Amino acid sequence: MSTPSPTRTSPVPEQILVVDDERDMRLLLRYQLELEGYDISEASDGKAALRLLRESTPGLVITDVRMPFMSGLELLREVKQFRPATEVIVATGYAEVETAIECMRAGAFDLIRKPFDIHEMYSCVARALDRYRLNASADLVRASQSFFSSNELERLPEAIVEGSRGIMAADAVVLLIPDAQGRFEVAHASGLASESEGTLLREFGERVVQRLSSDRTPALVVPGLEDPRLGSIRALGQVASLILYPLLVGERVIGVLGLLRRVGPRIFGKKDLDRAAVLASHVVLALENGRLACQLAASERLATLGQVAAGIGHEINNPSAYVLSNLGYIREQLVALRQGAPVDLAELEQAVLDAREGALRISDIVRDMRSLARMDDEAGGWFELNEAIRSALRIARVETTRRAVVQADLLDGLEVKGSPGPVSQVFVNLLVNAAQALDGWQGARKEIRITTRREPERAVIEVSDTGPGIPPEMLPRLFQPFFTTKGSTGTGLGLSISRNIVRRFGGDIEVSSVPGDGTVFTVSLPIRPLAEG
Ligand code: ADP
Repeated sequence: MSTPSPTRTSPVPEQILVVDDERDMRLLLRYQLELEGYDISEASDGKAALRLLRESTPGLVITDVRMPFMSGLELLREVKQFRPATEVIVATGYAEVETAIECMRAGAFDLIRKPFDIHEMYSCVARALDRYRLNASADLVRASQSFFSSNELERLPEAIVEGSRGIMAADAVVLLIPDAQGRFEVAHASGLASESEGTLLREFGERVVQRLSSDRTPALVVPGLEDPRLGSIRALGQVASLILYPLLVGERVIGVLGLLRRVGPRIFGKKDLDRAAVLASHVVLALENGRLACQLAASERLATLGQVAAGIGHEINNPSAYVLSNLGYIREQLVALRQGAPVDLAELEQAVLDAREGALRISDIVRDMRSLARMDDEAGGWFELNEAIRSALRIARVETTRRAVVQADLLDGLEVKGSPGPVSQVFVNLLVNAAQALDGWQGARKEIRITTRREPERAVIEVSDTGPGIPPEMLPRLFQPFFTTKGSTGTGLGLSISRNIVRRFGGDIEVSSVPGDGTVFTVSLPIRPLAEG
């Protein structure tokens, strides 16, 4: 009798397609494999097998090698091309070494000799399906990496929807996210036939979520098997099948992923539901990651302010001491004047001017801090690049000047697109990073240099330092959110946020570095054409 294979864990029967032109052979195999709990479909030749493969996704094909119209080897090649993850076992009645070699080269999982030793067959099938499951999930994991590679948070829903469409071979996909009132809105959709299709999917998503407390399963709708939670899906017309997967973090619903396959025989099955479960867990991770990064983006701005705050205190202290001492002198002189004592009026006037200069310096610092804290987002205007750079230089001054000689070589008259607050934050980040890189560095020269130049359509700003540089293997990770080498003192968000800011304004940021020799960050921003100015 059958020996249950120990490696099989999926509760869903696994599909195997048996291809043989001999009916008895197919029936025998079907009987033996069904005893083991597999779900068997049959085809009498290669063409019929390929047709079936278009409609379902068996994990394994067992094919005879000699068949009319198309040989087992030809079928194997087609399967590997069309569904690379599907494993193929080739059954042969002949000890043909050449065919065997060709089959293995073409990607057969194994060859099995006819007549079969049934235990050998069971073990081969179990191993082939193990590899299929591994391939299928590796393939899914690889595909869902695209969700995480996009660190542009606004693009995350699009990356999720487009990625899911490919992973699930769905005709349409919607991602629903609750708004502040808890109403589900379409964050992104792809492949919808009409607006009303989107509206319906949104309503279905809401219904699935409303019933979640009593029934935590995702909804799978196929013809003849409607989900009572959804009511009639007839309004969707010729919809073949639908999966609505709630995205949960503990008890909290952070969204619903709606997957739809329209007409045709490719209806979603239990296997797709299993795949959707893995996919949904990746989507949840990506969304949570995105939400965290968003929160941290706000705190990063505060962290930048925090990093420079100590310096700012010092910056304000100096001129205010200066203002106070000048005011003290003025007051003394005025008392003397009232008492008729001789007073040097020119010196008195100079003291007033000095006090005024000190007060202006304080108001400059306050203005810089305000512009840094205000993240007005509108990307439309042109502004003087040098203003944002000078403001960043002033804000980062204490951080930079106590560790390095700072040189600024700024071309006048460059107007760039964006808004000064965020652009200034980019340069504060780069300057503070450069200063921190030079901290404790034993190099002979300790310099930070910022230069600007005009190129035909962009302004190019370089922030360079003579610090320790960055190892080449670290460079690809530098702009990833949370990448930091500063332990708990770093957030790892400065560069990722800086890149988001400049990209939002149509620019970009790059890095080049020679270990031991220093680092250059190059920012480019769209420049106002000369004629327009
Ligand atoms: P954080 O400064 O919080 O670590 P960032 O995103 O600003 O986050 O920087 C990420 C990492 O990039 C830093 O931890 C550091 O290792 C590296 N880095 C950035 N700028 C420089 C630089 N000028 N020289 C050397 N390493 C740098």
